[in-house]
Amino acid sequence: MLNVLLIGNGQCGNRILDAVNRLSMNRGSSVKEASGGLSKYFSKHKYKSNVETVAINTAINDLKEMKFTKAKDRIHIPNLHGVGANRKYGKEVFEQQKGMIMRLLEERPRPDVAFVITSASGGTGSSFTPPLIEEIKKVHDYPVYAIVILPFREEGTLYLQNAAFMLKELREGPCDGVILVDNQYLKSIGGNYQDAYDGINTMIAKRLLFLLDSLDSEMMMVTDLGDFKTVMSGGAGLATIGYAKAETETPIRNLIQNSVSPSGLLFSTDVYQEASRAMIIIKGDKKYLSIDEISAEVEKLTSAVGHVFKGIIIQNGELPEVLCVLTLSSAEALEGLYEGAVAAINTERTKKDKIRREKEFDSSFLSIDGLEPEYWSRFLSVRSCDIRFRDIRPRNRRHRNGYMVSAGRSSGWTFFSDLLKNVSWSFRT
Ligand code: GDP
Repeated sequence: MLNVLLIGNGQCGNRILDAVNRLSMNRGSSVKEASGGLSKYFSKHKYKSNVETVAINTAINDLKEMKFTKAKDRIHIPNLHGVGANRKYGKEVFEQQKGMIMRLLEERPRPDVAFVITSASGGTGSSFTPPLIEEIKKVHDYPVYAIVILPFREEGTLYLQNAAFMLKELREGPCDGVILVDNQYLKSIGGNYQDAYDGINTMIAKRLLFLLDSLDSEMMMVTDLGDFKTVMSGGAGLATIGYAKAETETPIRNLIQNSVSPSGLLFSTDVYQEASRAMIIIKGDKKYLSIDEISAEVEKLTSAVGHVFKGIIIQNGELPEVLCVLTLSSAEALEGLYEGAVAAINTERTKKDKIRREKEFDSSFLSIDGLEPEYWSRFLSVRSCDIRFRDIRPRNRRHRNGYMVSAGRSSGWTFFSDLLKNVSWSFRT
């Protein structure tokens, strides 16, 4: 039996972890939806493997929001209420708290494989995940994969920048592979954010459970952790997961195609162009699993992708389901996100420069000794002046770090700092 460690970092990671625990509780039960409340103390998760789940957060409210994750499996970083999407601060907090976090992780059985689930763009999950994986890999050699959720693009420049830097750190660090999930790509799932989040979280949870089950199954044709590791080591360290389930009797050929089509994937990619290795697992009653159809589809995939591991699990009386893990040699959709992040960084830089210039102007202005009170009001109106420095006429007077400038008889005098030499102003008289 496999030992698996699932860590959910930050709010998004916590919620997805909670969805995994929720689905695991419902399995094989006549109760359709396990009730929240006391389940966090008494719940019986039905995992095939020995699965340990751990939720880590700096915000206690996010941890309290969880309904299906046991109280003992939640780690709150004390005295904090989130890190405000500030990765620099988040990394400092992790550095201070890593001893405590690692000690609590070490109290659990040593896993054979670990997954860390997090958003790329927030504060806690985004800043904790790369150094946490680094800490684990310093002392252990089991594989650690990150399941990373990319932001809705309209969420703003901070989130885009966080996502880009977080992915960079993960890919440069010892993480064994990044499984991409894109909120933006999956947006159509819900009419509002709550529904979209719930829908996306359930999708991820279902796939993760399917994957874990299949790594620990007595399959007719086996795919195991070793195969998964080989698949994940292909490509550019990036991967995504496809899935399709038959609602009615559907030819298995169509189901395999659906699992690698846009409707089945968690991240936008053209599998036949960008995938470099794949693992495909097919589950269901044997009457649906036509060997000819499966072989033909897998062959098609192999000719484009290179190597495809294939697993088949017979489940009597069940309609078929297909899961496909795909590693990517390139990810065009990620390039788009990086471009957005670069544009965001430039916009931010321009804004910061503007603020810095204004601050320098202010401080230079304020350093003039004996400034007459009337200049304070002139100073405020400087922003609507239009005199270039080269236009300054002899009647204007040199004064410490700048010039006292008059645009005409009725306009009075206004101070212009040297710092504004290259700035052009429009004057309203
Ligand atoms: P943290 O708690 O500081 O790590 O920040 P979050 O995990 O809230 O990160 C914010 C990002 O996560 C944003 O891009 C959100 O759209 C996304 N996010 C937050 N909650 C969820 C969720 O439940 N599901 C999904 N799919 N995304 C979420």
